[in-house]
Amino acid sequence: MQKTAIVTGSTSGIGEAIARSLAQAGCKVMLNGFGSPDAIETLRREIATSSKCEVAYSAADLTRPDDIEQLFEDTTSKLGPVDILVNNAGVQHVSPIESFPTAKWDQILALNLSAAFHTTRLAFPGMKSAAWGRIINIASAHALVASPFKSAYVAAKHGLLGLTRASALEGAAFGVRVNAICPGYVKTPLVENQIADTAKARNLSEEAVIRDVILAAQPTRQFVRTEDIAALAVFLISDAAAQINGAALPIDGGWTAQ
Ligand code: NAD
Repeated sequence: MQKTAIVTGSTSGIGEAIARSLAQAGCKVMLNGFGSPDAIETLRREIATSSKCEVAYSAADLTRPDDIEQLFEDTTSKLGPVDILVNNAGVQHVSPIESFPTAKWDQILALNLSAAFHTTRLAFPGMKSAAWGRIINIASAHALVASPFKSAYVAAKHGLLGLTRASALEGAAFGVRVNAICPGYVKTPLVENQIADTAKARNLSEEAVIRDVILAAQPTRQFVRTEDIAALAVFLISDAAAQINGAALPIDGGWTAQ
C-alpha cells in the first residue's frame, strides 16, 4: 500500500510499533516524538531499511498548534499528501483531583485531545479531495470507563472518542474513516511511570500496583502487547475495514466488558 502516514508519538511504545507495522505494510511513514537524536535516527534508518519504505522524522511538539502545522508541511513536502493519520502521542499524570497540577491538566488536554483536533482539521481537506483517508485515534479503555486519580487523562480520552465520532460522521461521505482504538494496559514507558505514580498516590508497592490495580482491571491478567495494537491499526487501513467508522475498538483483555 503506497500511502503516506503520520504516526504522532512514534519514538516509543505503541506509536513505534504502529510506525513499524505501517512501514512493513508498504506505507511511507513520518515519525514524531521526543528522544535522543541519535536513538531516533537509528530507529528511522532501521525501519526504512527493513521495510524498504521512506521514513522521515519530525520533532514537532504536539502541544503546539504551530508545530502541528509544520509537521503537515514537512510530511507533504518529504513524503507526499497525508493519507493515514494516527493520533497516538499522549502522556499521563496520576494525582488526586484536589492536588492535580493545573499545568499537567493543560498539557494532557493539549496533547491527548486538542492535538488530534488540529491534526484532523489539517488532514481532512487532502483526504476529502483524494476521496480516501484513514484516521486512527489511540484512545484508551479510559475513553469508555474511568479510574480514580486520572481526571485529566480520562477527560481527554473521553473527549477524543467524541472527536472520533464527530469526525467519522463528517468524513463518511468522502471516503474518510475515523476510528478509535481503546487499549487496556500496555507495558510501555507511559505505564511504567504510572506504576510508580500510582504506588505513591495509593501508598502501595509497585508489585502490588501491577497485581492489584493494573492487571486486576484486565480479566486476562496479561498486559496488551504493542504489536497487537499495531496489527489492529493495519487492519483498520485495509479495504476489509472500509465499513468500520466512528467505532471505539477495545483491545483490553475484557476490562471494559465488566
Ligand atoms: P510512551 O510514553 O511509550 O510514548 C509516548 C510517545 O509520545 C513518545 O514517542 C513521546 O516522545 C511522545 N510525546 C510525548 N509528548 C509529546 C509531545 N508534546 N509532542 C509529540 N510527541 C510527544 O507511551 P505509550 O504507552 O506508547 O502511549 C501511546 C498512546 O497510547 C498514548 O496516547 C496513550 O494514552 C495511549 N494508551 C497507552 C496505554 C498503555 O497502557 N501504555 C493504554 C491505553 C492508551
